[in-house]
Amino acid sequence: MAFDYDLFVIGGGSGGVRAARISAGYGARVALAEEYRLGGTCVIRGCVPKKLMVFASGFPQSVADAAAYGWEAQIGAFDWPSFRSKLDAELQRLEGIYRANLDRSGVEIHDCRATVAGPHEVRLNDGREVTAKHILIATGGRPVVPEEWQGMGCMTSNDVFLMDELPKSILIVGGGYIASEFACIFNGLGVTTTQFYRGAQILRGFDEESRGHIANEMMASGVDLHLGTDVIAIEQRDGQTHVKASTGHDRSYDAVLCATGRRPNTDGLGLEALGLELKANGAIPVDNYSQSKIPSIYAVGDVTDRANLTPVAIREGHAFADTVFGGKPSYFDHGLIPTAIFTQPEYGTVGLTEEEARAQGPVDIYAAAFRPMHSLFAGRDNRAMMKLIVCRETDKVLGCHIVADHAGEMIQLAGVAIGMGATKADFDRTLAVHPTMSEELVTMRTATRSHSD
Ligand code: NDP
Repeated sequence: MAFDYDLFVIGGGSGGVRAARISAGYGARVALAEEYRLGGTCVIRGCVPKKLMVFASGFPQSVADAAAYGWEAQIGAFDWPSFRSKLDAELQRLEGIYRANLDRSGVEIHDCRATVAGPHEVRLNDGREVTAKHILIATGGRPVVPEEWQGMGCMTSNDVFLMDELPKSILIVGGGYIASEFACIFNGLGVTTTQFYRGAQILRGFDEESRGHIANEMMASGVDLHLGTDVIAIEQRDGQTHVKASTGHDRSYDAVLCATGRRPNTDGLGLEALGLELKANGAIPVDNYSQSKIPSIYAVGDVTDRANLTPVAIREGHAFADTVFGGKPSYFDHGLIPTAIFTQPEYGTVGLTEEEARAQGPVDIYAAAFRPMHSLFAGRDNRAMMKLIVCRETDKVLGCHIVADHAGEMIQLAGVAIGMGATKADFDRTLAVHPTMSEELVTMRTATRSHSD
């Protein structure tokens, strides 16, 4: 059977665009449909605008530090509309680059929604139906607001970048990446910030000591964090959102940001009608090669809910193209993922948590919490934290955790070493770069504690 295309990609985010471009580079005839804006969550309403907001929110501290270092410096007011219009222009520029790159690769772009009509059939919003030898679903995910709070005026992370004005007070509900990052951003921008998390500590699943350290630093910098706190009622009153919590907390906020998780975008895609059973949260089950139970249909990125990170989606998309069109069967190994959470201070992490490692066997923990030179001189009392988790039997470094300014930059390189199987002796042999924060990683001589259970 002759197909219109070799590959039809649904979704123009990080994973879909990478897969489309690499496949086209192998000579495949590729089309891609995107219903909103090219670039997807990362570029349009995620990593990129978030990181720019992180930068914006850091200036009050930098200016206060400058004053402490002897500069005549004082921060003025933050002009949100001016920042937002620059942000919009930057996102438009990036979107243009995505489009140009696809064009240059020979990928045909359809600026419309597409759904799956058969194992090789794609239906476009304008009514056309096209055929493709392979279909790749890369539709990403979206924020979810619990049903009982829908229609109550709560924002999601998507709405933050579209706000007309900065609220004076905000309640952030949730304790994950998004809630914790935005709590720090809003706090840094001068917004009175409250965060409710229902569990015992924010950032569930990450290293416990690191989570505690981050939460303490966040509270010390002004985030009013309430743990073990559930929202029991939300209502709009006098232009404000009134919230009651399980702990008796009863207050109004200019804005409420619901950061209670994300859900894969598979609603109405037509997959279930083809007999493809989705996971309970709507994710598409795929094998290591990102192939679904229907052999011609693949999926990469957040829509598969494996590890919902841009670089992971990119690697999955690339591996798909190598496998299907490049004659090089390959897949992304999700085993060792360096990642950063852009709280203030940042958290960089790679490998096992202390809790995971000790469940696997005897480990030695090398940990240090210290006042970094930069802020100590400025008279601040914040502490950085560095931690290595070392297998007693092999001396291999199983995990590295850094809570400090620029931890995201540091963990990238720790990820290289740990990915190569570095031992504690390798770290020890490495000469310290002085004076830096990261020299602590190669100068921790004595284990802070050991677990033999
Ligand atoms: P997460 O799943 O990480 O966090 C959701 C949070 O909401 C959890 O704290 C959860 O609590 C809480 N929650 C869920 N349902 C409710 C409810 N009904 N009532 C109260 N609280 C609730 O999702 P995020 O949206 O923060 O992030 C999604 C993903 O996006 C991340 O996992 C990450 O992969 C990616 N991301 C990556 C970033 C980065 O690389 N820096 C930045 C932002 C996002 P509980 O823990 O109890 O379940």
